[in-house]
Amino acid sequence: MEAKHQTGLIWFNLDLRLIDNLTLIRAAKQCQQLVCCFIIDESWFKGNRYGLNGISEPRWRYIQQAIADLAASLQQHGQQLIIRKGQPTTEISTLISTLEIDAVYCSDDPGVYERRRWDTLVKRFPYISFERVSNHTLLTERELDFPLEDLPATYSAFRKRFEPLAETFPAGRALNRLSALPPMPQRTVPSNSVPFVEPSGYLKGGELAAHQHLNHYFDSNAPSRYKETRNALDNFADSTKLSAALALGNLSPRQVIDALRKYEQTQGANESTYWIAFELMWREYFHWYLRSYQEKVFKFSGIQGKKPATSFYPQRFAAWCKGQTPYPIVNACMHQLNQTGYMSNRGRQLVASCLIHELQLDWRYGAAYFEQQLIDYDVASNWGNWQYLAGVGADPRGSRRFNLDKQTQIYDPDGEFIKRWHGDQAVSQIDFTDAADWPLS
Ligand SMILES: Cc1cc2nc3c(=O)[nH]c(=O)nc-3n(C[C@H](O)[C@H](O)[C@H](O)COP(=O)(O)OP(=O)(O)OC[C@H]3O[C@@H](n4cnc5c(N)ncnc54)[C@H](O)[C@@H]3O)c2cc1C
Repeated sequence: MEAKHQTGLIWFNLDLRLIDNLTLIRAAKQCQQLVCCFIIDESWFKGNRYGLNGISEPRWRYIQQAIADLAASLQQHGQQLIIRKGQPTTEISTLISTLEIDAVYCSDDPGVYERRRWDTLVKRFPYISFERVSNHTLLTERELDFPLEDLPATYSAFRKRFEPLAETFPAGRALNRLSALPPMPQRTVPSNSVPFVEPSGYLKGGELAAHQHLNHYFDSNAPSRYKETRNALDNFADSTKLSAALALGNLSPRQVIDALRKYEQTQGANESTYWIAFELMWREYFHWYLRSYQEKVFKFSGIQGKKPATSFYPQRFAAWCKGQTPYPIVNACMHQLNQTGYMSNRGRQLVASCLIHELQLDWRYGAAYFEQQLIDYDVASNWGNWQYLAGVGADPRGSRRFNLDKQTQIYDPDGEFIKRWHGDQAVSQIDFTDAADWPLS
């Protein structure tokens, strides 16, 4: 087939992989020459409206590992990844103008700012082609059997619609591989940033490490026990630990489902293997939820338009972030997050419940802190889960309050987790000043 475009630009974002990268495959088919770029958004390192200062060291390390891995894989295909640090629309505009790009490709990102940036570029360059490819979810928007305006109001209703569609998902579809990439143009723009890759970390970023982890997990018998173990707080094999790889697109959800189906064929399907797909459907749900509700997902009053009866107390928030609350289990989880960039799903539920119900804080501050810290930060899953727990999102039961003492007895009966993560340095009170800012004795 004759290539449609002379010089294409692929803007990697949540798709840092070569295998099963539908955006890359499409760009490779349609362009005679290809420019590959990744933009390190300078806003990641700046303060934000929640008074937080840039992304955490574990999250940044994970991203750098993933970028370095992508650059190395592209090099094996004769391509050089241009890595630019700056304001994304400015950087992409410069590349388009300097390299005479006539087609831009990007994987579909549900983020509101990200979509606005894309729309700005489309308006700024009306004479070139822009294509956003659905590449972050199991099914594409077209494969859903309902328009996004009619997204089912609850996860259960969504799952009933989605499950039969996902079951017809063709096996082997995740094995989309690239045969070759078009060459780079002779003239290029230099990178202005080089990833600094340290070897350590809770999980290693990058497609290669993600495949090794995927294979290792499905070569073990852990998937057959997943449902009983998934709520544990600390043991590495108790849940898949695939979230970070999925968040940056080092793996596609199609690849994970393929690996799961193969496991079921050889080791047998059970409730646990079903539950892995069940959790992945939550990820799908929140993706479409964000696409459907957009800005409302970031509003205090959520999609329901009802403001929670919480407020903002800077000292309480600071204490929660540092893991210095009166609740040992919460402190241990926060220390784990601060050191590794990861926290179990149960841990996330407990610390969120503490922030909302015990400390009476505005849930968005918690979500913003997670955004900064988590190596698996995913805009839709993070803000969607926080809304759900704050009672302003998709939860039909309203907000959920966890009894922290009971939860500690269930999930850390011997106090090992709390001891390991120094949660027992709990403080006896949460406030040190009164409403008029006078010190409390
Ligand atoms: C307040 C809060 C914030 C969260 N923020 C994020 C986030 O930023 N990024 C993120 O990927 N997950 C987030 N989650 C969901 C969940 O906690 C993590 O996906 C999970 O703990 C990651 O570990 P795992 O890969 O071992 O998960 P597993 O238990 O092995 O689950 C398998 C996969 O299913 C998906 N998944 C599981 N639970 C959920 C869920 N509740 N919502 C959406 N997807 C899910 C993930 O992709 C995960 O990798 C959040 C949950 C809460 C309660």
